[in-house]
Amino acid sequence: RMGRSQVECRPDIDTFTPGLLALYESLKPSEVHKSKQKQLVDSLAKSVSKEWPNAQLHLYGSCANSFGTSHSDVDVCLEMEIGTASTVEVLLRLADILRADNFDNVEAITSARVPIVKMSDSGSGFSCDICINNLFAVANTKLLKDYAQIDQRLLQLAFLVKHWAKLRGVNETYRGTLSSYAYVLMCINFLQLREPKILPCLQAMEQTYTMNVDGTECAYFDEVHQLQYFGAENKEGIAELLWAFFHYWAFHHDYRRDVISVRTGSTISKQEKNWTTRVGSDRHLMCIEDPFETGHDLGRVVDRQTIRILREEFERAAAVLQYNDDPCVALFEPYDYEN
Ligand code: ATP
Ligand code: MG
Repeated sequence: RMGRSQVECRPDIDTFTPGLLALYESLKPSEVHKSKQKQLVDSLAKSVSKEWPNAQLHLYGSCANSFGTSHSDVDVCLEMEIGTASTVEVLLRLADILRADNFDNVEAITSARVPIVKMSDSGSGFSCDICINNLFAVANTKLLKDYAQIDQRLLQLAFLVKHWAKLRGVNETYRGTLSSYAYVLMCINFLQLREPKILPCLQAMEQTYTMNVDGTECAYFDEVHQLQYFGAENKEGIAELLWAFFHYWAFHHDYRRDVISVRTGSTISKQEKNWTTRVGSDRHLMCIEDPFETGHDLGRVVDRQTIRILREEFERAAAVLQYNDDPCVALFEPYDYEN
């Protein structure tokens, strides 16, 4: 264990910035990748419009929020009037239609918190998740995309953190670790808390964009082109920020007391949210408030065992960046859960 009081990073940390930036560049999806994705979405739209001519197709998640890598799936939300039918009935019908139109591996997953149809395209190798009327996801996709346009260090940090999480086996919600979406929110909140700040809190500014989802107002300042120089006073490079991110989650975050909140640009107390005890399967051990569905804790999947795994991984990552001779390799060393 590193000492908790350790707050200074190594003096040569910036020498690792070029290597990390090269890795970041290599993770960005290629033009070929993007055009294949578009083809898949176009053929999906065609199939859907035959049955539901008024349905609107929205992309959400990392194919639309600018945090997508060349391994990311395609997330699609269909907005449509479903009358008296249930979402599950519509999804089952959708699955039949897609099978009839020769999409591959079509499967309706109806028991999830957000029911979806999964399918893939064997030609391009893409997989695609389709949900119905989940407009919160569409709203938070735009919020993330707008944050990404303010300072390029957000994309750099989030790509590296997502890549690290995938390789270290801590990006698996079904196993009690965190979603990509949760990691991006952690990165945004971290950059909101830097001194000087690298990101503002868009939801605390003048509301220039608003979208009502099921009675909840999703509103924030979206004229982000005006914020191009917001983080300019802060000169920290990506290597230092990456180290500081892991160091924060290893040693500074108060897991017992605090909730991280992109909505307020700071941390708030669990007390204030009534997230102090376990309710059903929501344990609230590591708390990440959803920016719009504020009753939703993205850390709810984390349990006693996985919080330990996560904290050990944060500590390991901080230590590797602090002490290793070749941290860019060691940091992303795949961890094999089974052994
Ligand atoms: P990846 O590149 O790993 O696919 P992603 O950003 O698409 O990353 P997913 O975990 O596939 O991440 O989630 C897709 C989208 O679904 C998110 O961007 C977010 O809009 C929404 N989402 C995912 N999980 C949640 C959740 N627990 N609560 C609310 N929205 C969520
Ligand atoms: Mg996705």
